Amino acid sequence: MVNDDQWVGEQVMSNVQFDKYYRYTDLTSILHSFAQEFPHLVEIKSIGKSYEGRDIWLMTVTNFATGVAEEKPALWIDGNIHATELAPSIACLYFLQTLVTTYGINPDITRCLDTRTFYICPRVNPDGAEWALADTPKFIRSGTRPYPYDEEPNTGLVMEDIDGDGRILLMRIPDDNGAWKICPTEPRLLVRREPTETGGKYFRLVPEGRIKNYDGVQIEIPRSKEGLDLNRNFPALWRQESQQPGAGPYPTSETEVRSLVEFITSHSNITGAIAFHTFSGVLIRPYSDKSDENFPVDDLRTYQHIGKKGTELTGYPAISAYHDFRHNPKDVITGVFDDWAYEYQGLFAWTVEVWSPQRQAGITDYKYTEWYQEHPFEDDLKLLRWNDEQLAGKGYIDWYPFDHPQLGQIELGGWDTISAWTNPPPQFLEKEIARFPEWLVWHLLISPRLEIYEVSYRNLGDDTYLVRLVVHNTGWLPTYITQQALDKKLVRGCICEIELPPHATLETGKPREDLGQLEGRAYKPVAPTRRQADATKDRAKVEWVIRATKGITVKLLARHERAGVVRAELTLV
Ligand SMILES: [Zn+2]
Repeated sequence: MVNDDQWVGEQVMSNVQFDKYYRYTDLTSILHSFAQEFPHLVEIKSIGKSYEGRDIWLMTVTNFATGVAEEKPALWIDGNIHATELAPSIACLYFLQTLVTTYGINPDITRCLDTRTFYICPRVNPDGAEWALADTPKFIRSGTRPYPYDEEPNTGLVMEDIDGDGRILLMRIPDDNGAWKICPTEPRLLVRREPTETGGKYFRLVPEGRIKNYDGVQIEIPRSKEGLDLNRNFPALWRQESQQPGAGPYPTSETEVRSLVEFITSHSNITGAIAFHTFSGVLIRPYSDKSDENFPVDDLRTYQHIGKKGTELTGYPAISAYHDFRHNPKDVITGVFDDWAYEYQGLFAWTVEVWSPQRQAGITDYKYTEWYQEHPFEDDLKLLRWNDEQLAGKGYIDWYPFDHPQLGQIELGGWDTISAWTNPPPQFLEKEIARFPEWLVWHLLISPRLEIYEVSYRNLGDDTYLVRLVVHNTGWLPTYITQQALDKKLVRGCICEIELPPHATLETGKPREDLGQLEGRAYKPVAPTRRQADATKDRAKVEWVIRATKGITVKLLARHERAGVVRAELTLV
């Protein structure tokens, strides 16, 4: 699937590499070069400015010759809302390249761009990413706006590459009350000290850095001055600082989130949404805050169907945030993008966590978040072996002595998390992001699509004509997409309009008719039995009686905000 020739087009954008992480200026010029080189398929525009004033780029990808982007069903794709999660930007870039280089070669991509639109926002949070990619990097959760206070912490550990080797590792400090000891069978690894154990050599582990106002005793790990989490700032069950740190002063308070929300709410042709993050190697769907029993039945089924296809095409399990991806079993996460897109826009939306170091190391069956609380020691050995064999020892650094200006003789070492865990090391990047294009194209091809089934007229005599327009939804999903959208009245029905020339009059019918929603094929029964008759709920008909002289032309238009726009002309003779 991944290396199928169909999916690897000619390398037209020869300057783009998929084994590196681009800084903002390079990313910007690459995105512009796509628009310049493929103007018939790609447009670039800024949908807003980041806190530091960088443009947030949006790529619109469709065959512009077959109609404007807004008149076609669309899929939203974004990445890198979290500062250090850089692989998502490159996943978006890779997808962009796949689309433009295989258009006209790959039949699914060709059909998809002829009839539908992708909106791709590769770097939602350019400020945070720029810090992560700087020569002297600084790793924060999300945006660079100070929050909640505009001051650095007075005391405590400030992460820093203190020995100047370009990495931020762990500091291993000898401490009789430490929780860690050297593993007897693999001296590079540390294991937890037994609850009643005494008399050994123990260590305390803290991130590499310097301690501000160190009193020789206390090492606090304070929260960063840049305390925002942009993926808690969406207007869906948003909670205040006391309940959920980093969510911002009010929903969409942050310019990056507001830019996304404004774009998506003003583009009602969007039918689905995917936000790329790292890591864990999973496709996560709502809800984040409640169990699957709360879903409308058909929505859950469809989510599971899309997820199953996603697993088949990407190799990533499809899971529920609430049931399978909670960091604290007593708490939930709210104010996130996918919940907002599902609950408030009625779209099938996903959070895709790119890359799983555990799976790379051969740990196939693991619980994504619980693993960090408890896992077999065998897993640590597997990861170490993976480091030795696949990462040339650059992921896990054996402990080496360092004379710390404040702590004295300590050791540095352990996992270089940012390089090996947070993102795929560059040599693994392309293989990892090549998993997604086929699913993304499939996800958009299941959208509803409005097409004309019949346009006809009958001369009734006496200068009157009966004009008939029949439209149908040729997509798999219904035009309303989700039951959630219907229940919350988020989506209008199919509107049909007739435009008459001067002197012609409408005898019966209204110039604008609302035909309601059109079903797709998604909810057809699995077995064709008589009990489950196959009604034509995908079609709708409107008829008008017109008084006009022979030879006039009437214009017909049908539009559904999520299924597209179709037009027809009819000359009455
Ligand atoms: Zn993330």
